[in-house]
Amino acid sequence: MTIRLLASTVVNRIAAGEVIERPASAVKELVENSLDAGASRVDIIIRDGGRSLISVTDDGSGMTAEDLRLAVERHATSKLPDDDLTRISTLGFRGEALPSIGAVSRLTITSRPPNADSAWSIAIEGGRHAEPKPAAHSPGTCVEVRDLFFATPARLKFLKAVSTETTHATEAVTRLAMAHPHVAFTLGDGVKTSLKLPAVTGEPLEVRLSRLGAILGRDFQASAVAVDAEREGVRLSGHIGLPTLHRRNASMQFLFVNGRPVRDRLLYGTVRAAYHGLMASDRHAMVAVFLDVPTDALDVNVHPMKTEVRFRDPALVRGLVIGALKRALADAGYRTATTASNTALSSMRLGASPGGSPSIAHVGGNFPAFNDHLGRVGRGGMAEAPRRFDFDLSSEDPSAHAMAPSGAAEGAPEPDLDLPLGAARAQVHRTYIVAQSTDGIVIVDQHAAHERLVYERISQALAHGGVSRQGLLIPEVVELDAAAAERILARADELAALGLLIEPFGEGAVVVREVPALLGTVDAQGLVRDLADDLGDMEEALALKDQLNHVCSTMACHGSVRAGRALNVAEMNALLREMERTPHSGQCGHGRPTYVELKLADIERLFGRR
Ligand code: ADP
Ligand code: MG
Repeated sequence: MTIRLLASTVVNRIAAGEVIERPASAVKELVENSLDAGASRVDIIIRDGGRSLISVTDDGSGMTAEDLRLAVERHATSKLPDDDLTRISTLGFRGEALPSIGAVSRLTITSRPPNADSAWSIAIEGGRHAEPKPAAHSPGTCVEVRDLFFATPARLKFLKAVSTETTHATEAVTRLAMAHPHVAFTLGDGVKTSLKLPAVTGEPLEVRLSRLGAILGRDFQASAVAVDAEREGVRLSGHIGLPTLHRRNASMQFLFVNGRPVRDRLLYGTVRAAYHGLMASDRHAMVAVFLDVPTDALDVNVHPMKTEVRFRDPALVRGLVIGALKRALADAGYRTATTASNTALSSMRLGASPGGSPSIAHVGGNFPAFNDHLGRVGRGGMAEAPRRFDFDLSSEDPSAHAMAPSGAAEGAPEPDLDLPLGAARAQVHRTYIVAQSTDGIVIVDQHAAHERLVYERISQALAHGGVSRQGLLIPEVVELDAAAAERILARADELAALGLLIEPFGEGAVVVREVPALLGTVDAQGLVRDLADDLGDMEEALALKDQLNHVCSTMACHGSVRAGRALNVAEMNALLREMERTPHSGQCGHGRPTYVELKLADIERLFGRR
């Protein structure tokens, strides 16, 4: 056995196995180099999913002939001037990408620094490189990779279909583009441009949102909430989708750490936690969040592909992310994703004019006066609200919850139209509240909204010691089967904390003495029977407060505002105001919207007035 040092071509091919997994990794490395070189525009061409050609052209700082010779050497980099791995502020630092790509393809780099009179070009084929030659090129760098993996046939065999590789390469570009909105990007096959992202300028947050919108879709842009928080020098910013905007998987969740796209389990877990109770558990939020971490609190040297990082204090980061996301969602309160109203509009449009214009107008989800209202509401100054929500804890007398005939407004002052959810005008099908806002019509699903309010109230109250109860004038006896009675009595303590006081009443029966005050008039019989059934289906090991969504929806079903109950105008307005006050009231616990808003402008378009 003879031990010998491997030839550099072989070493580089081995490294290429880790650094360049597929065409998308080469695209990522080259675009990162352009960004590190301070480019203001990057033009990318990908042919055959990157197999026959990848070309990346930038207008960055360029390289001299001597730079070119070094750039293709292994571990040669301009990015660690003082050898300090704790101070990495560039995307690259390992000096591996160009030699790795050169080892497995036919690579040509042509480059010219802005102040040089001419360009130079260097070629490498399967790891063997020629001397740099003079060339013609404008300032900046053009890297062309042809026949990727021709020198490593085993890897070539593992490439997927052209469309799959193209998708991966496109994603590599869009991820970097999200973090660098000031840079213009184009991507195409040399004939057709498939992605065009102009450079964005202006206010930092808007710049970012507009780039995110261009990539993640206008839906996201319209329904996104800004996030901004800081703790011990770690800053989190970005935009997250309202809970009504959800996807089948987590592929629309993006995390960037110091401008670097990162895949991190930390993110997926924290996002799930932040949206808990707002979204069905098999759906996933859309988020793009950016962490800025002091370079010495972070290790980016974890993996050759640089897509993983380690935080010095992961608990701090996790807490920061969950806290900031939750707060942003709570502040968003009653907002709901515009997709719902878009869907509504498009279906109306279909009905109205099948041959009509296919362009669906954008419905604004941004309430201009939103913060204003929150401010007012938050200070409890609701001068416009005629009274507290009728089904509220404040009401002492249960009989006060009796339904007045629809329309009996009892001379209540009319609320301002410029309140976010407007002034109630009518109840239709005993299920929907139709309200008029300054510039549109709001339709509220009264049952879904009430369910949400009950949930928020109960979870708030639980956090502060328990839910207020309302004694029944005449305690109600509910006959159940023995097993059901046993099941529900076993949970009596927990139910008492949720506001429902029950006691045994002989074999197979319970007596209901008190009910949660916020439910208003309660059908105690129905509630107890349904809860007993629910308990049969529920996870026994879990506390009721961890299955609160379910319990609350059952409770709300037996309270005053369920679907099919007539409400008068004052009650409807009270419900709207309560929604405005309540965090997360824009959707029910399953991520379905509780209301949709149709803008006047869109309604006018429906009728061809615009
Ligand atoms: P790293 O990016 O880790 O330094 P690379 O192999 O990707 O390693 O690149 C090696 C060096 O080549 C870089 O440090 C940089 O100085 C130079 N370089 C690569 N691409 C460009 C580019 N597009 N513009 C200017 N310089 C570049
Ligand atoms: Mg690099």
